[in-house]
Amino acid sequence: MLYEVRVAANKGLGLFAKNTIPRGTRILAEKPLIALRLGQRPTDVLGYAKRLDLEEKKRLLGLSWHPGNGVKRMGRWVEALCWAVRNRATDGKSARAQGNDTGKISATVTERLSELVESLGEAVQILSIFRSNSFNLAASEILSSGVQPSSTSSPKTSNPPNALKKVIGNNNLRVEEISPPSRPAIELALFPSIARINHSCNPNAQANYHPLHQTFNVHATRDIPAGEEVSINYLPEHGQLRAQRVAKLEDGYGFTCNCPVCDLDTKAGQKGEQSRREMQQTMKRTRALFTDSTGVAESRDAGYGADGMPESLSSTVSDKEQRQIDALRAMPEEDRQTWLRERELKVLNKMLAMYQTQGIVGREVSSMHYAIARLQRSTGSDEQAMASAEAGLELEKACLGVDHPAYLEALAMVEGLRVDAARAQLVSTKSK
Ligand SMILES: [Zn+2]
Repeated sequence: MLYEVRVAANKGLGLFAKNTIPRGTRILAEKPLIALRLGQRPTDVLGYAKRLDLEEKKRLLGLSWHPGNGVKRMGRWVEALCWAVRNRATDGKSARAQGNDTGKISATVTERLSELVESLGEAVQILSIFRSNSFNLAASEILSSGVQPSSTSSPKTSNPPNALKKVIGNNNLRVEEISPPSRPAIELALFPSIARINHSCNPNAQANYHPLHQTFNVHATRDIPAGEEVSINYLPEHGQLRAQRVAKLEDGYGFTCNCPVCDLDTKAGQKGEQSRREMQQTMKRTRALFTDSTGVAESRDAGYGADGMPESLSSTVSDKEQRQIDALRAMPEEDRQTWLRERELKVLNKMLAMYQTQGIVGREVSSMHYAIARLQRSTGSDEQAMASAEAGLELEKACLGVDHPAYLEALAMVEGLRVDAARAQLVSTKSK
């Protein structure tokens, strides 16, 4: 066993490295205890829970949960609870209707009532546990196909490989070509061991779903020294500021993060926060340039709230920005495209640098390497493109493992680039 479960300060239980866990190690591969497919209702959780054996049920009920501050966002879950109440109440009624003997009736009703209270309590607990601990496996895939995930509950997201497309929202990023959107059959799933892993805004591990093995796999994204707690990010990494992250974590999971990134009393924390703020501003300006200069009918505010980009980015364009937009509009199409590509490359590199400075190394970063590679390729910088693609691939290997379809696809893409490069070299050698 690579890890042990023990008390993690004020966070309840947590997973800790027993010995050094090298980067890229698959720490856990777990099948879901309960999984909802797309289109299923939260109430189905209760049906699945009923079918668990004693040991499994113990694992389920041993998980922590919190009632959820964001009651208004719990629509589906409240609805599920109402359903449970109605269903049990109907059971009680039919029992009463069947009894003829008055004495028996009252006994039955009392029994039924106490059963009802008990089972209702358990139903609430099970639904709350599922809500607090399940992962949204569909979110990443839906994100990469550019469709908004329904923000009906607060499950942890698996990591969107393509957060940036959504952030910048332009047409030049084509990360999805590398990982084509293939929705997993499972939407929400509960993995009891992985649910023990606590959150960090700068985690040392990442969980990704393996669609063929149907397991949720946790990989070390850094070397984890013996005794260090294993952590994953419950939120999609979009460069959010502390207040934005804290609000989501408190709302969804009932805790306040005090990871190093969130500690604004330290120099490093303040610096990180500042660079995130600058990044958001750059994003805002870039987004305005792209949408306003290309006439893409896209609201600048759309799609931000649900996944962590702040509403504060809904922007008014400054005079300087407006002049830039006007200048871009006046450019011939080809020049404008070149200008935008260069701008995009600059933004991506800036974002990459921000993540690298903070030590954030997950699939959100590899998707950035790929996007950079494509842009470099389109501008003829083949050697740089190759290096960027290799960097992305290396990250994917660590986050996903060599048996993951997304890694294999990326590998094939990089192999293609390698062949192209070799061919180009051959041609240039021959022509000499
Ligand atoms: Zn944090």
